[in-house]
Amino acid sequence: MDKRPPIDIPGEGIDPKRGEDLLGGKINPLAFKRNSTLMKSSVEALALLIKMGDLVALSKGITLIESTKDADKERARDLIKMCLKDSISSVRVGISGSPGVGKSTFIESLGLQLVNQNKKVAVLAIDPSSSITGGSILGDKTRMMNLSIHPNAFIRPSPARKALGGVARHTREAIILCEAAGFDTILIETVGVGQSETLVQSMVDLFLLLILPGAGDDLQGIKRGVVEMADLVVINKADGDRVNAAKLSKAFYLQALHLFPAKENGHAVKVLACSSTQSEGIVEVWEEINSIIQINKKLGLFAKNREQQLLHWFRDTIQNNLYDSFFNFPGIKEEMIDLQKQILNHLTSPFMAADLLLKRFFDQLHNHK
Ligand code: GDP
Repeated sequence: MDKRPPIDIPGEGIDPKRGEDLLGGKINPLAFKRNSTLMKSSVEALALLIKMGDLVALSKGITLIESTKDADKERARDLIKMCLKDSISSVRVGISGSPGVGKSTFIESLGLQLVNQNKKVAVLAIDPSSSITGGSILGDKTRMMNLSIHPNAFIRPSPARKALGGVARHTREAIILCEAAGFDTILIETVGVGQSETLVQSMVDLFLLLILPGAGDDLQGIKRGVVEMADLVVINKADGDRVNAAKLSKAFYLQALHLFPAKENGHAVKVLACSSTQSEGIVEVWEEINSIIQINKKLGLFAKNREQQLLHWFRDTIQNNLYDSFFNFPGIKEEMIDLQKQILNHLTSPFMAADLLLKRFFDQLHNHK
C-alpha cells in the first residue's frame, strides 16, 4: 500500500479538484497529461506527476535540477521544495569498486531481486571520470538492460558536469525526487580513488565495496580510505575457478578490516562472497544490508547520520556558493593574478594577500548595494 502522505497541489493554474479526482483514480493520468498543456508546462504539474510515480516526469525533473540556466535553477528549487516532504522512508546504499569488478552486473542482480519483492529501486551514479576527462567510465556502456525495463526500476546515469561537487549536489537532489516518486531503495554507484566515495558516503545510509577474488597484498589498488569507509565488503565473481581465490580474499580482507577503527554501531564489517552473473549470494548481501540498517535504526545512528548529512549539504552549499560568488565577482580574478605575483616575489605574504583581497571583495560588495 502506498503510505506516502496525500499530495497537495500548491500554486495557481491548477484545479485542485481535478488533481484530487486524478489521484482518486477517476481520471486516467495519461489522458490527463496529454490534455493539460497548462499543467505540462508548470513545475507544480511536474511535482504532481513525480509524486504519482511517473518516470518520464521524474527524468524531466532530474534534467531540470541539472540545468545550468538561471530560469531553470529557480524552477528546480521550487520543484525540490514541493518534493521534499514527500520523501518516504527509504534505504540509500552506496556501491563502489574498480572498473570491471562487476558493479552494473551486481546492481542489476540485486535490483531484480528487490523489484520482484515489490520494492522500487532507483539507481543513480556519480562518475568522477566525466569531471576529469569529459568521458565516462560508468555511463557509456549499455548497462543493466533487464533492470532498466522493469516498471519498478529507474536508472539514471551520472550527471555530466565539470566539477565533482556539482555532480554530487545534483545526485543529492535526484535522491529527493526519486524518493518523492516512491522509490524506497536508492542505489548510488561510483568508481574512483577516494574523493567520489567520500561524496557518495555523504548521501547514503550504508557504503558497500565490491572487490575481485584474489588475495593480493595491495588491497587491489583500492585506497585504504575507501576500504575504511565500507560498512560491507563483497567479493564478486566468486564462481567457477575463482571460488578458492574468493576464500583467500575473504581471509585477507577480514584481517585488513581488523586494523581499522570499529564502526560507531559496534557491528563488525562483514566480508561476503557472491556471483552476480549466477545470482548467488545476493540474498545474503541484502540481508546483511538490512541488518546493518536495523542495528543503526535501533541505536539512533540511522536518523543521526541523515541529520548530519542534511547539515553537511547545507554548509557545503554555502561554501560552494560563496566560493563561486567570490571568484566570479568583477575584477577579482585580475586582482588575484596581481597578488599571486606579489606573493611569489616575496612582496607580501599569502595570508596578508588573502586578507586584502577578501576585504576588497566585501567592501565592493557593500558599495554595490
Ligand atoms: P563494472 O565496470 O564494475 O560495472 O563491471 P560490469 O558489471 O560491467 O562487469 C564487468 C565484466 O565482469 C562483465 O563481462 C561481466 O559479465 C563480468 N561479471 C560481472 N559479475 C560477474 C560475476 O559474478 N561472475 C563472473 N564470472 N563474471 C562477472
